[in-house]
Amino acid sequence: MPGECIFCKIVNREMPAEFLYEDEACVVFRDIHPAAPVHLLLVPKKHIRSVNDLKDEDKGIVSHLFLIARDMAKQSGVRDSGYKLLFNVEKGGGQVIFHLHLHLIGGWKKP
Ligand code: AMP
Ligand code: ZN
Repeated sequence: MPGECIFCKIVNREMPAEFLYEDEACVVFRDIHPAAPVHLLLVPKKHIRSVNDLKDEDKGIVSHLFLIARDMAKQSGVRDSGYKLLFNVEKGGGQVIFHLHLHLIGGWKKP
């Protein structure tokens, strides 16, 4: 339900978050509980519950998220060291915020 959705509220600036990037289709901000030195969330402005709810008309949004992830990886300094891109899908897949988002996770220390 978009009205109760935390990420809709962040997108609409009804809840605080520092946007590292914003355009007409998505925003990027840091995960509040980072799992790694770099942990960004790439969030489409359109409320879509999960990957399961993507429609054919959303394919532009999905490809856009990956291109922004490429750029944010470079900007965050993890382009060459490497990173993970992750969609958690529904409760069993670890999703807790039911508004589509792509995790960009990286920046681990070299062994
Ligand atoms: P997921 O488990 O894929 O649904 O991921 C949701 C992520 O959102 C978690 O990693 C949370 O730490 C993160 N999160 C929850 N609330 C906020 C918030 N207000 N600002 C930034 N990140 C958040
Ligand atoms: Zn939402």
